[in-house]
Amino acid sequence: MTLRGRLTAAFLTVVLGPVLLGAFFVGSTMATLDRSRSTERLGLAAAGVRTSVDALCQQLRAAADAVALVTDPAARPRAATQVVGRGLAAAVTITDTAGRTSYATPGGPETPWRDCAGDPPAGGPVRALAARVQLRDPAGTDLGTVAAAQPVDPAFVARLAAVTGVAVTLLDDAAGPDRITHTTETRGVREAVLAAARTVGGDRVAETGDGRYVRRVGPVPGQPLPLVLSVPGERPPHLYAALVGAVALAALLAVAAAWRLARVTTRPLVELAGAVDRVAHGDLTARVPVRSRDEIGRLAGAFNRMTRETGSYVAALTTSRDQLRGHLAVLGDTLASTHDLQRILRVILHSAIAATGARAGAVLLLDGDGLLVGRCVEGLDGPDADPAALRVPVGAGVVGTVAATGEPLHGRWDPERAGAGEPSCETYVAVPFAAPGAAELGGRGPDRPGHPPADGEPAPPGSTALGVLALYDRVGAAEFDDDDLVTLRTFAGHAAVAVENVRVHEEAQRLSLTDPLTGLWNYRYLRESIRREVERANRFGRMLSVLALDLDRFKDVNDTWGHAAGDAVLVEFARRVRGEIREVDLAFRHGGEEFVVLLPETDARGATIVAERLGAVVRDQPVPVDGHAGEPVRVPVTVSIGIAVYPDHAAGGQQVLDAADDALYAAKAAGRDGYRLARPAEPTPTQEIPVVAAAVSPPDGLPRAGTPDAAGTGQGGASSGPHPPRQSRGR
Ligand code: GH3
Ligand code: MG
Ligand code: MG
Repeated sequence: MTLRGRLTAAFLTVVLGPVLLGAFFVGSTMATLDRSRSTERLGLAAAGVRTSVDALCQQLRAAADAVALVTDPAARPRAATQVVGRGLAAAVTITDTAGRTSYATPGGPETPWRDCAGDPPAGGPVRALAARVQLRDPAGTDLGTVAAAQPVDPAFVARLAAVTGVAVTLLDDAAGPDRITHTTETRGVREAVLAAARTVGGDRVAETGDGRYVRRVGPVPGQPLPLVLSVPGERPPHLYAALVGAVALAALLAVAAAWRLARVTTRPLVELAGAVDRVAHGDLTARVPVRSRDEIGRLAGAFNRMTRETGSYVAALTTSRDQLRGHLAVLGDTLASTHDLQRILRVILHSAIAATGARAGAVLLLDGDGLLVGRCVEGLDGPDADPAALRVPVGAGVVGTVAATGEPLHGRWDPERAGAGEPSCETYVAVPFAAPGAAELGGRGPDRPGHPPADGEPAPPGSTALGVLALYDRVGAAEFDDDDLVTLRTFAGHAAVAVENVRVHEEAQRLSLTDPLTGLWNYRYLRESIRREVERANRFGRMLSVLALDLDRFKDVNDTWGHAAGDAVLVEFARRVRGEIREVDLAFRHGGEEFVVLLPETDARGATIVAERLGAVVRDQPVPVDGHAGEPVRVPVTVSIGIAVYPDHAAGGQQVLDAADDALYAAKAAGRDGYRLARPAEPTPTQEIPVVAAAVSPPDGLPRAGTPDAAGTGQGGASSGPHPPRQSRGR
């Protein structure tokens, strides 16, 4: 059953119950009152009937007495006639002792007459009422009776009815069911009155179906007439119908009111239920009209507020999710498309700040000296805005502790705890990121001048931490919580992967550019480097010297001591070359036992000095290798070197390499273990020398193309170099 049905039923019960009870009470009270009043009226009427009949009987007795008192029998008829003539009786009869009628006034009523004494009672229709007295002579002898009678006709009955004020019916009380002799009752109800009269006796009152009350009076001694008195009830006609109608009307009104009330009451609930249903299906725009200020109105208002706030909350969530999606897309694209660590870290930091609602943040990476160095900052002002200014030793301050312990931290900023270089803030969260086996990231790679690092450099102990991702001052003042920590760990994971990827990428690049045996740069990197160095020399108007080196009679080393010993010689040779050149110089293994050294900003004189030094360092110390039986043997090694200088000896990278090769060939031809300078290039009409000749050395003291120093053309031998030996700069 619906709530509306229940409310309707309850209202009907509450309203209709009293109405029904009241109607019943009114009905029964009216009936009781009516009955008692009618009974009272009938009682009074019965007394009136008795009085009237009694008075008539006394009058008739007096009339009979008047005739009986006449002593002269002959005068009695005259007296009888006079009595009748005066209206004291309607008829007088004189009877002798034998019962014969000696005289009767003419025109008397039909017999039998009902005797006033009523004794013995006689049945049959009553025609007249009569009183009898004894007729005696003066001596007291019984001479018969004198009877005076009055007819009991409709007029008599009507008079009785008029006197008593009720309807009077005279019955024929002969044997068998009573029949009506005369009545003043209206025609239509006579039978009903008769039927009711048959059911009662004595003082009792019966009620007919149409609301009449009926009572019998007589025949009894002193009132010999069998009469029925009847009176219509005094309650309003159609009382019950009116009551039923009233109840029906009340019920109708109650139903209408209950239905309306239930509808008014339940409609907001129905609307609310519908709205809740819509919300349950995800429609947060559902609202219910607030129609009142009652409890249901308050409920509707609260519901609207709830859905509105939930809606805006969801909208905010959706927006932030979309933003996060955007950030993640950018992050994904960046991670996938670049190995630019700086850019990746910037995107990671930006996304982390957006995801947690922080004001500022920084990414710090561990350098080789146990120092966390800012690589990227966002949202910091003043001196902190420069990432390089952010330098915190591992173990110091918040980020240092995070890097040292590997445990993230978050909370309110405690100035006493902060490290010297850390930015000040209100709240912070800092998460370490690490990659297993991560090595230091000190800017290793092809961009680094000099020689590539040797393999297997150990990472500093405990340096699996790559860095720390720190965010400051969550917008909205609340502290960073565990959820933020989880989010930040995700981004820190990205940062770790990015750093690791860049490291691996750099390592792969390094491996692709180095020679695995000697660790020197390989031929591939030589081509790139010669191009770059030639371009740089052009741009700055400097010289570039190229040394082509080839070990002498190396085939013999292999043949004598084996290939492994030859390899060991190559490795040792490379080590010695590395030891003899500057940081800015580049050493390459060109292939086999041929090597190239690039000496930027070096003229022919400088190059010959280096060539001499290299020849000496190889020549002076025979290389220790394992002999055939594993015994240590020392292998004497020498090297021939060809020198070419850009732009003096060639107009381009490849040409200067070729020139150096030619010079090397010349050195070999001259007997090995020495160096030769390339021949100056033959100027051709189309050849452009892209450097400006300078008459004087520039302030930096470095030689310039075209200076007399650089124009050395001599074919220097190891023992007869054209220039005196000179200490290499920067060494
Ligand atoms: P020269 O240059 O003085 O004329 O004599 P050479 O014996 O060095 O002549 P050549 O250039 O013809 O021989 C080079 C030899 O170097 C040939 C090869 O056996 C050896 N070789 C080349 N690459 C390697 C290497 O990677 N390891 C070893 N052990 N030997 C190598
Ligand atoms: Mg060779
Ligand atoms: Mg050789």
